[in-house]
Amino acid sequence: MAESKPETQLVHIGRNPKYTQKGVNPVIQRASSIIFDTLEEKRHATRHRAGNTLFYGRRGTQTHFAFQEAMTELEQGAGCVLYPSGAAAITNAILSFISAGEHILVTGSAYDPTQNFCDNILTKLSVQTTYFDPLIGEDIAELIQPNTRIVFLESPGSITMEVHDLPAIVHAVRAKSPEIIIMIDNTWAAGVLLKPLLFDIDISIQSATKYINGHSDGMLGLAVANQRCIETLRENSYLLGQTADPDTVYMANRGLHTLATRLKQHQINSLQIAHWLQKRPEVDQVFHPALPSSPGHEYFIRDFSGCNGLFSFQLKSRLSPEQFTIFLDNFTHFKMGYSWGGFESLILGYQKEDLQNMRQYDFSPKEGTFFRVHIGLEHPDDLIHDLQLAFERI
Ligand SMILES: *Cc1c(COP(=O)(O)O)cnc(C)c1O
Repeated sequence: MAESKPETQLVHIGRNPKYTQKGVNPVIQRASSIIFDTLEEKRHATRHRAGNTLFYGRRGTQTHFAFQEAMTELEQGAGCVLYPSGAAAITNAILSFISAGEHILVTGSAYDPTQNFCDNILTKLSVQTTYFDPLIGEDIAELIQPNTRIVFLESPGSITMEVHDLPAIVHAVRAKSPEIIIMIDNTWAAGVLLKPLLFDIDISIQSATKYINGHSDGMLGLAVANQRCIETLRENSYLLGQTADPDTVYMANRGLHTLATRLKQHQINSLQIAHWLQKRPEVDQVFHPALPSSPGHEYFIRDFSGCNGLFSFQLKSRLSPEQFTIFLDNFTHFKMGYSWGGFESLILGYQKEDLQNMRQYDFSPKEGTFFRVHIGLEHPDDLIHDLQLAFERI
């Protein structure tokens, strides 16, 4: 059978008839105890508990299995582990492979709580973290120590949107030390726009809270791993007590079916607004990976199949505290809030020192006030009007 296009694949995945029981969607199975009719059945479940066999609620139910199979197929891995949040997926993936006395290399553009986890929790466990410039490439080899166990990537980086040269980084790490586990926070690509495991990355981690669920009403994390890592990841996460509730998993699975279409519209809207911002006299730089002004744009064009609604832009000058407040407080359509990937538009503002505090490598932001926007599914003309009024206010 010819391989289907992403839109078609996303309509069909997560709908294995084993789990749908004649419906279009999988059943929501809420269970802690699983009842075994015979001793032999219990023994069988025990032997196969790491696979999609009902064993105990913490190992998942039919609802979880449907979504795990879908994500394994989407990210072309050997298996998928679910977590109560994206943050839990990140911390558990790291803890599953690191030991006291070892070293982790983390991109300096990583999601803030990922960095805080390394600084606060890994430090307590005697694990040393080195942050690197997200645009590093082959030179990452020079940062690898004999005790380096994990390389942690994120592309595009949170807030500042740098795109990694993945083949160069992976090649350099593999050449220097084949045992190192390479992980990536793949939330931005939603498992669709970038396929990390095809770049020989071991584990692709996502916050399904974002585009996969897509409606700003659920928290969920996941990690898809290759053959060499899936068993360790699954068993360590199980021992660390990770579970996800079936209702949220059901919503994430449902989100997959409209994901391709939503991403396409987010892409159209965000490009229109990014181009408009680029022409504004107040704007210094637009950090949208699909635009040449964005760092790592050449790698984005080469490695990603499209973009979404999340990007940033920087003004030429620093807004005064009063200007910063009136700019942000008076939007009609853009709401101020953390997270992204829902149907609605969001905005967050940062001054130079806020950005500086988020980066622990040689990073010197310019003076201009910085904004990150998530462009939702509203009509872009309305969003542009909203931004235009904000510029007029300052
Ligand atoms: C939001 C986010 C996370 C954390 O996900 P939660 O589900 O909110 O815990 C991790 N990585 C990135 C890049 C994110 O944007």
